[in-house]
Amino acid sequence: MKVAENLIHINQQISHACQKVNRAPDEVKLIAVTKYVSTERAKEAMEAGIVNLGENRDEGLLAKWDVLGDKPKWHFIGTLQTRKVKNIIDKVEYIHSLDRISLAEEINKRAGKKIKCLVQVNVSQEESKHGLAAEEVLDFIKSLRPYENIMIEGLMTMAPFTDDETQLRNCFRRLNELRHHIQNCNLDYAPCTELSMGMSNDFGIAIEEGATMIRIGTALVGEAGEEEKK
Ligand SMILES: *Cc1c(COP(=O)(O)O)cnc(C)c1O
Repeated sequence: MKVAENLIHINQQISHACQKVNRAPDEVKLIAVTKYVSTERAKEAMEAGIVNLGENRDEGLLAKWDVLGDKPKWHFIGTLQTRKVKNIIDKVEYIHSLDRISLAEEINKRAGKKIKCLVQVNVSQEESKHGLAAEEVLDFIKSLRPYENIMIEGLMTMAPFTDDETQLRNCFRRLNELRHHIQNCNLDYAPCTELSMGMSNDFGIAIEEGATMIRIGTALVGEAGEEEKK
């Protein structure tokens, strides 16, 4: 399928989810996750009108950057090794995966300007997932005060791998509650307005529960090998 065709379908689903809860579709930023696909396919996504691209590894981001440069807004959505920070820091619009102080320290040190970060939260407490436990997040964010180049724009999570709608909804709802809790602290470096949650299988529910950024790979640009299937 062409990205443009997938995009029409996804935009319909976004509108539908927004309508259900009285939100405006332009409150939801669509990030095309291009980690499985070629630079060519990422380019096709941009030509279809997509502005935000997400990559989860520095190699993937850098390879596409070589061709696409700063035309798209780049979102780093994967686990970020401290030693890789310097490779991507001046190329990304957002880092969605801040999950430890040592990483904050490195970002702060390498950044030439304020960097928009989201704190990754492991709401579902799955062993396989990265991120802070919900109850650790506030203390973590408070401890970021000394790092003048770090802006905490919001929170990110990956929902558990399940079709159980109640479980998904609870996960997203908890992240939204946590966001409000942090907003209420009025920290000048942590406006915490963004909620990055929702992927191919669950973005409708995520939007109903307040997502402001959805990260879609498979349903939008396809999986690895998709391009051959055209
Ligand atoms: C791969 C990935 C996505 C996209 O997943 P799909 O199910 O293909 O939409 C979203 N977020 C993160 C952090 C990812 O690693």
